[in-house]
Amino acid sequence: MCGGRIDIAFILRAFLGGADGVIICSCWPGECHYVPEGNYNAVSMMNLTRKLLKHIGVNEERLKLQWVTASEGIRFADTVTDFTKTIRNLGPLGSYEGLEDDDLKSRLQQVTKLVPYIKIAKREKLLLHLKDVEAYSTLYTDDEIDQLFKEIPSYYIDPEKCHACGTCRRRCPAGAIDGDKNLIHIINQDRCIKCGTCYEVCPARFSAVTKLVGQPVPPPIPEEKRKIVRKPKEKG
Ligand code: SF4
Ligand code: SF4
Repeated sequence: MCGGRIDIAFILRAFLGGADGVIICSCWPGECHYVPEGNYNAVSMMNLTRKLLKHIGVNEERLKLQWVTASEGIRFADTVTDFTKTIRNLGPLGSYEGLEDDDLKSRLQQVTKLVPYIKIAKREKLLLHLKDVEAYSTLYTDDEIDQLFKEIPSYYIDPEKCHACGTCRRRCPAGAIDGDKNLIHIINQDRCIKCGTCYEVCPARFSAVTKLVGQPVPPPIPEEKRKIVRKPKEKG
């Protein structure tokens, strides 16, 4: 319904599904039907996604945002014709880029998995509402995107501190935390989408979740050592 609904993940899914190019057509700035104006969010999201594509070696011309409303039939037809020409010149996804299918798929999947982290890290810029739409084109720099990937965090639960309260497991949006009432919790690193929720919600008195950047994640505690034996509460 609105360009503002477009998400990085939708675009990556289209490329993973075999699209050679993706075009988003959105109402003109100042003509959005919604509040706050979704097409400003769309242009920020598009520019970030183009930078992400560039970072993984995909030609950013394969993604285009065009202002065109439902009543502008000729403009829409011209836009699609021009974009089709651009994509035909680039050829199938991966060919111009010199990427094998498996490599390309793996790159797209890796970024897809990082979308929650990227959106959290860039949330302030994603919500910016700049008067000059052209100013969005310089909002994200190549260095900034390189840094974003260098700073990808991992989260680890310290078995010495975990009290198996279950808060992180209940709040994890990816079902990446394993645990039970009397079982020290562990994070499945393959399922973790690096949203940082566990880090935020672990009660301060436990502070069992650590954020790691640029260092390896310690291996999970062996299964046989995960059980917590609690002292029975004294009566009276
Ligand atoms: S960061 Fe924590 S809450 Fe978020 S997906 Fe990973 S384990 Fe789950
Ligand atoms: S919120 Fe903290 S203490 Fe509770 S289960 Fe998770 S890591 Fe353990």
